[in-house]
Amino acid sequence: MTMMTIPPRPALLDTPEQDMLIGGRRVPALSGKRFETRNPATGALLATVAEGGAEDVDRAVKAARAAFEGPWRRMKPVERQRILLRLADLVEAHYEELAMLDTLDLGAPYSRTIMGKARAGALLRYYAGQATLITGDTIDNSAPGDVLSHTLKEPIGVVAAINPWNGPIGMSVWKAAPVLASGCTLVMKPAEQTPLSALRFGDLCLEAGVPEGVINIVTGLGDAGAALSSHPDVDKIAFTGSTGVGQKILHAAAGSMKRVTVELGGKSPNIVFADADLDKAVPAAAMAVFANSGQICSAGTRLFVQSSIHDDFMARLAAFTQGIRVGDPLDPETQIGPVVSAVQMDKILAFIEGAHSEGARPVTGGRRMSGAGFDAGYFIEPTIFSHVGDEMTIAREEIFGPVLSAFAFDTVEEVLARANATDFGLGSGVWTRDLATAHRMARGIRAGSVWVNCYQMLDPGVPFGGYKMSGFGRESGPHHIEDYLETKAVWIKLD
Ligand code: NAP
Ligand code: MG
Repeated sequence: MTMMTIPPRPALLDTPEQDMLIGGRRVPALSGKRFETRNPATGALLATVAEGGAEDVDRAVKAARAAFEGPWRRMKPVERQRILLRLADLVEAHYEELAMLDTLDLGAPYSRTIMGKARAGALLRYYAGQATLITGDTIDNSAPGDVLSHTLKEPIGVVAAINPWNGPIGMSVWKAAPVLASGCTLVMKPAEQTPLSALRFGDLCLEAGVPEGVINIVTGLGDAGAALSSHPDVDKIAFTGSTGVGQKILHAAAGSMKRVTVELGGKSPNIVFADADLDKAVPAAAMAVFANSGQICSAGTRLFVQSSIHDDFMARLAAFTQGIRVGDPLDPETQIGPVVSAVQMDKILAFIEGAHSEGARPVTGGRRMSGAGFDAGYFIEPTIFSHVGDEMTIAREEIFGPVLSAFAFDTVEEVLARANATDFGLGSGVWTRDLATAHRMARGIRAGSVWVNCYQMLDPGVPFGGYKMSGFGRESGPHHIEDYLETKAVWIKLD
C-alpha cells in the first residue's frame, strides 16, 4: 500500500454546533433542536447538528424557489459551467478535509474516502460540460398550413435530494451536479448519521459562486425527508436510500405530482465461471462485498461459483478474507472500518444469527470484534456463508453489512434464472474468459449494471441505476440531465 498522510482534524469540527445552510446562511433549526453525530469507530461525539423540521424544510424550499425565480435560471450556460468548474477545483483542493469528515462521521477508512477525490472532480467537470449541451429539437410536422414546431428545454424547478449515509460527499456531489448544470435549485437532506461533509460542501458551493439559495442543505431526521417529499412546492425528488423509504416517498410525492427518481437497495449476484482468472476473481469477489463494510447498494452479496471450482474457490476466498485488515479508519493500512451505527450492527448480527439457524454453512467471520481498539466501535468480522439455500433470508434480503452468501451452480441457464430470482436488480458481476458466456450473461441479467471481469465500476459518463425494486431513473450518463428538464413544445403558425 502506498504511504499516505492522514490530514489533521477538519477545521469544521472547531464549530461543535453545526447549522443548516438556507438561503446562503448557516442557520439553526427554528425549533432550536439539535441531534448528535458520532464517530462509529470510537463513539466520540463529533458535533451537534441542527435538527431541521417541517418549518425549516419550508424555509429552505422558499429560498430555493426564490433563487429559481431569480437570475440563476436565465444565467448563460457557460456561466453555470464556469461555476461548476470552479466548484470542481475547490472540492478537489479541499478533498482531504471532506474525506476526513466522512471517515470520522461514517467510519470508512481514510484510505477509502480519499479515493473519492478523482470521481468527485470528474463528476463536477462532466456536468459542467452538460451545462452547455442542453438542446431542444426542431421537428418537422404534418399539420395543415405553414407551421413550425420546436421544443424548448427548461429547468424543472426546485429539486429535493434525500441521501443515504454510505458515501456522503460523493452522494452530495452526484446530486448537486445535475442541478447546477440544468439551472434548477436544490434542497438536500443528508442522512442523520453523516451530515458533516454535506455542510462543508454547501460552504464550498457558495465560495465557488453558486448564488445564495440555489443549494440549501437541511440537516435532520427522517421527518425532514418526509416533509420534503410531500412539500407542494418541490418539483422533483432525487432519492437514494432503502427500498422501504423509497416507497414512502413515491406515495408522498403523488400529492403534488412530483417527478421522482429512486436509487434503492440491492442483492446483487456476482457469478464466477470455472474458466475465470481466479487470481483476479478471488480478491474482487471478497471486496465486492466487504469494501465499505458491505455498506454499498450494489455490493455483490450473492456469490455464485461454478461447481467444478467451488471448493477450491471458497478456500481461497476464505484465506483472502481472513487477511483483510479491519480496524482504525485513521490507520493507512486499514482496509475496512466499523459499520455506521449500533443499530446497523445489531441488524447485521441478527442476519448472521438467522443464517446459522436457517442452516447456512459458516466459512469465516460472523462475530462482532472485541478488544482494544474495537470495543467502543461497531466492528464486524468479514463474514462468509456457503451452501446458502436460495430461499434463506440471507439469500434474499439486503443486509448492508460485511456478509457474503455463496452458492454453487452448474450451467449458464441455471445461474441466470437463480441470479434473477430476486426482487432487486442493481448491480451484477460475471467472471469468465469466454466471450459468448460474457455476452449471454450481460443480456440475460436483469440489473442496471453488469460488470464483466471487474466489479463496481462507475463513471460520470455511464448511467447507473436499478431494475425492479432497486428503483428507476439513471444517474450519470448523457441522458441524466433530462430528469432535471421540462420539455415544452412551441408551435408557430407562419401563414
Ligand atoms: P434510508 O433509511 O432509506 O434513508 C435514506 C434517507 O431518507 C435518509 O436521509 C433518511 O433520513 C431519509 N428518510 C427516512 N425516512 C424518510 C421518509 N419517511 N421520507 C423521506 N425521507 C426519509 O437509507 P439508509 O439506511 O440511509 O441507506 C442505506 C440504503 O440506501 C440501502 O438500502 C442501500 O442499498 C441504499 N443505497 C442505494 C444506492 C443506490 O444508488 N441505489 C446508493 C447508496 C445506498 P435519516 O437519515 O434521518 O433516517
Ligand atoms: Mg456519524
